[in-house]
Amino acid sequence: MTELSIKQWHAKADALRIQSKMVIDGQFVGAASGRTFVSKSPVDGRFLADVACAGEEDVNRAVKVARAAYEDGRWSGRAPAERKLVLRQFADLIRANRDELALLETLDMGKSISDSTSIDVRAVSNCFDWYGEAIDKVYDEIAPTAKEAVAMITKEPLGVVAAVVPWNFPMLMASWKVAPALATGNSVILKPAEQSSLSAIRLAELALEAGIPPGVFNVVTGDGPEVGRALGLHMDVDGLFFTGSTQVGKYFMEYSAQSNLKRLGLELGGKSPNIILSSYRDTKHAATTSAHSAFFNQGEMCTCPSRLIVERSVHEEVVETLIEVAKSYTPGDPLDPTTNMGAMVDERHTGRVMEFVDQAKTDGADVVTGGARARQDTGGCYINPTIFDNATNDMRIAQEEIFGPMLTVIPVDSVDEAITTANDSCYGLASAVWTDDLTTAHKVSKGIRAGLVYVNCYDCDDLTVPFGGFKESGIGRDKSLHALDKYVELKTTWINVAGRD
Ligand code: NAP
Ligand code: MG
Repeated sequence: MTELSIKQWHAKADALRIQSKMVIDGQFVGAASGRTFVSKSPVDGRFLADVACAGEEDVNRAVKVARAAYEDGRWSGRAPAERKLVLRQFADLIRANRDELALLETLDMGKSISDSTSIDVRAVSNCFDWYGEAIDKVYDEIAPTAKEAVAMITKEPLGVVAAVVPWNFPMLMASWKVAPALATGNSVILKPAEQSSLSAIRLAELALEAGIPPGVFNVVTGDGPEVGRALGLHMDVDGLFFTGSTQVGKYFMEYSAQSNLKRLGLELGGKSPNIILSSYRDTKHAATTSAHSAFFNQGEMCTCPSRLIVERSVHEEVVETLIEVAKSYTPGDPLDPTTNMGAMVDERHTGRVMEFVDQAKTDGADVVTGGARARQDTGGCYINPTIFDNATNDMRIAQEEIFGPMLTVIPVDSVDEAITTANDSCYGLASAVWTDDLTTAHKVSKGIRAGLVYVNCYDCDDLTVPFGGFKESGIGRDKSLHALDKYVELKTTWINVAGRD
């Protein structure tokens, strides 16, 4: 695919047709109440669309439609091999519409166009391909019982599945749930974050074009405490799969308990420890990779290595390198293909992230680079990469998820102190250790309570591996074949084959 220039991206942005109605039963519909909310771009403050703002009535309608689609078997009743072909067609259409989808993502939530095209859209199409390709290769089981009976263990779709997702990787977080849910034959209702509803709507439109029948993949847009809550409390939603903050994840547990005990999958927050030890041969390389991962996607990453725990003997060299890399991340026009740091998602979040600069100073950490907003003349939301040095793990900048380009450095004196510090957090999503000592690598990776441990790397990524957290980082795993289990019920069927006597 030929890559576009900044001028061409701006021209495309100006000419973009934006669909801002919801997709229910294959139709574009406004909210029953007629309400809308404004989608404004954090790139430059431009108005993008008035998006349908759903209420309980719309949620009820979407659930009814999804249930009817599930019951009549228009999708759930199709052979896995048929679902595969449609999902692969969907993936092809996502690839064919790469520029438009990437543009919607960038304009709506601010990430750079080079990331939207080369990371988000590519990973989303790959996800639908992968689960489509997998689904006709997964077998049911016969249990090894006594010969008088056959016990079949079969997997059945949950039925109506809702997915509620955040704004940092809007399409990708949605696809990690929607792809395995559709592959296993469920009907789906997707509720995107308010800050990033536009790409979800376009995805549902492309799904229809690919041949996913109306009513099988619906998108309901609106306010979390209203639409997300209504889905969480709905008596006819069988499973709810959420990615977002730990606080809202806890609400979903309450909604499930207060309604029908619907199954939950929760991918929540993180404050990932990244341990650089003096036993790693190339301190500069470790620090460079760590800084790139910390500032990637403006730090709006659940796996952001936001707590850098460093052995004191290499502390100085690490911080010097971090500052050097931070300076190479200049917030720029997200539509410029050379920009490596885009806009923060919105004004409110920018303000919240900026509060941590004063907090760091009050707590006694050193702000060694950054700490200020950037490009304010554009009307957009930008923050310079920021490093807090000489922090201690009890500070708010070490305990709370900042979700911005802010890295907290905590010096320690030993491997044991590094492990204790790493585990002193309510979160347990990702983690890393840098060492060339095999025994230490084992000790630390076994000692850290987290769903992901990187040894001498960060942010390695592949659909084949499970993704999710320990502790308050969530319940369940996205990605890999394991994720398919979340969207099915196991049914045991005993068949007497011994005859009557
Ligand atoms: P959020 O505030 O928790 O929102 C996530 C979703 O939940 C949005 O669609 C939101 O809708 C909805 N929601 C908000 N309040 C709700 C309520 N009371 N009841 C039901 N639904 C509600 O998270 P965010 O700010 O969008 O995203 C950042 C968070 O996501 C971070 O904590 C990050 O770590 C986490 N995250 C985790 C992973 C992972 O895989 N573990 C991946 C990415 C992000 P509205 O937008 O309309 O409010
Ligand atoms: Mg939100």
